[in-house]
Amino acid sequence: MIHGTVAIVGRPNVGKSTIFNRMIGERKSIVEDQPGVTRDRIYGKGEWLTKEFRLIDTGGIQLEQQPFSEEIRVQVEIAIAEADAILFLVNGREGLTTEDQAIARLLQKAKKPVVLGVNKIDDLHLQDAIYEFYALGLGDPIAMSGSHGIGIGDALDALVAHFPEKETNEYEGMTKFCLIGRPNVGKSSLVNAILKQERVIVSDVEGTTRDAIDTPFQSDGKDYVVIDTAGIRKRGKVYENIEKYSVLRAMSAIERSDVVLVVIDGESGVREQDKHVAGYAHEAGKGIILVYNKWDAVEKDEHTMHQIEKKLRQEFIYLSYAPIAFVSALTKARVQTLLPLIDAVHDASLLRIQTNVLNEVIMDAQLMTPPPTRNGKQLKIYYASQVATAPPTIVLFVNDPELLHFSYKRFIENTLREAFGFEGTTIRILARERK
Ligand code: GDP
Ligand code: GDP
Repeated sequence: MIHGTVAIVGRPNVGKSTIFNRMIGERKSIVEDQPGVTRDRIYGKGEWLTKEFRLIDTGGIQLEQQPFSEEIRVQVEIAIAEADAILFLVNGREGLTTEDQAIARLLQKAKKPVVLGVNKIDDLHLQDAIYEFYALGLGDPIAMSGSHGIGIGDALDALVAHFPEKETNEYEGMTKFCLIGRPNVGKSSLVNAILKQERVIVSDVEGTTRDAIDTPFQSDGKDYVVIDTAGIRKRGKVYENIEKYSVLRAMSAIERSDVVLVVIDGESGVREQDKHVAGYAHEAGKGIILVYNKWDAVEKDEHTMHQIEKKLRQEFIYLSYAPIAFVSALTKARVQTLLPLIDAVHDASLLRIQTNVLNEVIMDAQLMTPPPTRNGKQLKIYYASQVATAPPTIVLFVNDPELLHFSYKRFIENTLREAFGFEGTTIRILARERK
């Protein structure tokens, strides 16, 4: 559950990325050792006083060949559009600059809460440097030091205080999905094709999230929402063409969705960027469907689909669980299979296995294929329990968690898939020592 979004803005070298890294903490990713998964330096998640938040380092959003004033203006606009609270960082060692003043003016116009952090106040005797920043008219400056970890908590206290009061449970009871992929793969054409299907009723209920232009609709008596991935629209393509910003928007859409459709352009085939985007969805633990679009434009015979499927499995090794749909937004071919597939994947991610049934399957597997021994020690699974859904998360209580190796984990995962399906969803398997 995400409670809010914080964006950091400020001139270059004031310490934005240093503070960013402090705030997201060093939580280790579950899928870190898997190929094809990258992370983005400008986007992270943090937690403060039980509140989870998104963090954006706008310093990582760069424009090519633009003057500084334009670059910073875009960064500030993105911060204003995306964040619930903005951390404006200045450099206490350099003192107040005209550029700081220019940024402050942009922020004041926006009516978004701003917390002013004066960075590089590494020790107490520098404390007095913060006072001149009162002149920015942004309230009390907070003394911070990214390198020494000073003032981080004070800043977070002030930022979290601006998060929305109510935890609005967005679109409760509806299946939320988004379409992600490179530009021009056919995402908007596909959304239109889905919405133009018979029986689909687009409701005029407005999206509950600010700035978002999500589309709720009904099909066959079920409620869905297409989560929007587009960001600031007012200046059209300028923002869409900033790759990091598109990635940021995709990641926030992924987070708000139950199921993610990773759209691939059948005409041009798989590109490196497709794998990055799919990696984010995988890492977020969402239901995933690989959608191979523009099938009409693919030259084919009776073997083609099988060959492409094989190729996709090689390219997206870590997505072996994701179903593949071959469709055409242009001719509408098989577009009608997408909603049932989305339902199936959503259901799979919400599947809860009875504890006794789960244990029976895992104990049988352990008996038939015992874990290999390492240094004379053998893993023993005593008991298993499903502790969460979306994604299904299974805890194995074992003699020594270190002994659960990737290959045996994979074996357990495959066993669970054989027994229960789980099509389209990751399964998280954790090991805990039985005390
Ligand atoms: P950004 O361009 O705003 O993201 O700034 P960086 O985080 O990359 O930091 C710019 C430089 O300032 C780096 O050399 C950092 O090591 C240094 N720096 C960051 N925070 C502090 C701080 O609290 N104290 C001091 N003395 N240096 C800092
Ligand atoms: P987006 O940028 O991913 O939203 O892609 P668009 O939906 O704007 O589509 C990009 C281009 O691909 C447009 O010219 C579409 O007409 C074309 N396109 C989309 N879907 C298909 C398809 O299934 N077959 C063919 N041949 N062209 C398509």
